[in-house]
Amino acid sequence: MAHLTAALNDLRERGTYFRLRVLDDEQGPVCTYDGRQVINLASNNYLGLCNHPKLREAAIAATRQYGVGSGAVRTIAGTMRIHMELEEKIAAFKNVEACVVFQSGFTANAGTVSSILGKGDFILSDELNHASIIDGARLSGAKIKVFRHKDVAHAEELLREIENEPGRKLIITDGVFSMDGDIGPVDKLAELAERYGAIMMVDDAHASGVLGRNGRGSVDHFDVHGKVDVQVGTLSKAIGALGGYVCGSRDLIDYLYHRARPFLFSTSHPPSVAATCIAAFDILESEPERIERLWSNTRYFQEQLKQAGFDVGGVSTPASETPITPIILGDGRQTMAFSRALFEAGVMATGIAFPTVPEGKARIRCILTSEHTLPQLDQALETIHSVAKQTGVL
Ligand SMILES: *Cc1c(COP(=O)(O)O)cnc(C)c1O
Repeated sequence: MAHLTAALNDLRERGTYFRLRVLDDEQGPVCTYDGRQVINLASNNYLGLCNHPKLREAAIAATRQYGVGSGAVRTIAGTMRIHMELEEKIAAFKNVEACVVFQSGFTANAGTVSSILGKGDFILSDELNHASIIDGARLSGAKIKVFRHKDVAHAEELLREIENEPGRKLIITDGVFSMDGDIGPVDKLAELAERYGAIMMVDDAHASGVLGRNGRGSVDHFDVHGKVDVQVGTLSKAIGALGGYVCGSRDLIDYLYHRARPFLFSTSHPPSVAATCIAAFDILESEPERIERLWSNTRYFQEQLKQAGFDVGGVSTPASETPITPIILGDGRQTMAFSRALFEAGVMATGIAFPTVPEGKARIRCILTSEHTLPQLDQALETIHSVAKQTGVL
């Protein structure tokens, strides 16, 4: 196992080795990591649902009523009434025929892409798509064609090259890109898919609960209902619990029941998780003010950063259009050091370097939530500013 030690030493030399930060209390706008209280700009708890009282109650009630585990995979004996209820709820919310829930967004993507395509087929994938899409694409055995980030003309060029090949074609994009916070051109890609007879798929992990009416996602944001064949979302980010889902036609979902390997070979959610998610979709409908607060916090924070002279994307890199807010520093080592200095000063914001983002595009990633108060945001901005001055970043 010496190669593992060598690889770790290499990371240490590059300054990108990290230790896990351990949360001592709950996932909130201000919380305690490694014994230090910080303003938390690192979580995906967009709407504060990780600790919403109604979701807690739903989880506890389901545990009392149904126990802590489902006891089997869905296809053997582990499909509980509450799993079906959640899927019906999501399908109605997304205005599609059917929905299947997976253990995570990762397995939803990997399990779906790898099962709906095979050898001889083609996958056209944005270069910044999530790792779970890339893994699913590799597992499928299909040929992978990568188009430049958000470049619809390049996607079309690649499609034209394979126009006369007999294999099926799948176009796939993230709805919201997790590192830059920009929105994928779902409408234009869907139009392209229609013209070339390709399947259209979108991964709405960061768009679920954030974009569209009541957080219905990118398809609703662009008003392209019925034009995206496969919509993946996550239950682990804005929804506050854990899981992933696929929405589409009844046949797509039935097919995934029979062929998606994580669905067939890995145990279903505990009933408490399903109950939590059902309660979360109720909150999306009944408390839209959470989404409004999320967006007003986002606009405020990004405007203040720009005015202070930070590079928050744009020009050579995409500018954020969502609560994901990159502060681009460029150098990996400097970025990781900046993130550590911020933490010491009371702000938790993740440093992200190569290979997660391209070389020279290292950044601090801040994520806003509906639960941050203005004084908390002002304090975070002031800290970011003063640490940047101290460390020569500004
Ligand atoms: C987080 C994320 C996933 C994975 O979702 P989990 O539910 O955390 O497994 C998939 N795709 C994208 C774009 C993501 O950001």
